[in-house]
Amino acid sequence: MPSHLLLVEDEPSLAEAVAYTLEQEGFAVDTAAEGRAALALFEAHPPDLVILDLMLPGLTGWQLLPAFRRQRDVPIIMLTARIEEADRVAGLEMGADDYVTKPFSMRELVARVRAVLRRRQPADPAAEEVVLEAGGVRADLERHEVTVDGAPVSLSPKEYELLVYLLRHRGRVRSRDDILQAVWGQEAYLDERTVDVHIRWLRKKIETNPSQPRRLLTVRGAGYKFAEAA
Ligand code: CA
Repeated sequence: MPSHLLLVEDEPSLAEAVAYTLEQEGFAVDTAAEGRAALALFEAHPPDLVILDLMLPGLTGWQLLPAFRRQRDVPIIMLTARIEEADRVAGLEMGADDYVTKPFSMRELVARVRAVLRRRQPADPAAEEVVLEAGGVRADLERHEVTVDGAPVSLSPKEYELLVYLLRHRGRVRSRDDILQAVWGQEAYLDERTVDVHIRWLRKKIETNPSQPRRLLTVRGAGYKFAEAA
């Protein structure tokens, strides 16, 4: 099940761009441009996380934050153009989980969303997808086991993380940079060739013919994609 986000932002082009990016990252996103609509959506379709612009017409983010919190202890990331320390502190004191100042990069926002969701991960493991499967490759995340056409394969930790990342985004292209950020994260001294090398190793383990991959595909000029059916 993808995490479901509620985005409350009154600037249409920004709301659209943020929602698009988050959807590309596998989240389901509801968007509201003002407070009343946001509260209605919050009740109708309870989100896993709220991204809340502080400066809104009508009810402001300052008023919405406690209104959301009264109903449920949902994680909240605040968006704002204000950079004053006092606002940041006030927001965090009101219980926001994190704070992103405009202008922000989409990558930064996605990273914050993931970090907050990870911190707030519910104890219920059923809330997470525990088996990922495509084209005869199956990763059992609880057992940490991978099979190819039913036969177990042994992967290094990075090969495993890379496979899980690509399976989570199966059917969609991920750039080398996306992959590097997602799998290697802070180890920023690495470059994109690291990704190519690990892809090559992974192919040796999951492809029948690694030089003619049918599962882990190269998308020229764009990156890599795990095929939904091989
Ligand atoms: Ca605004």
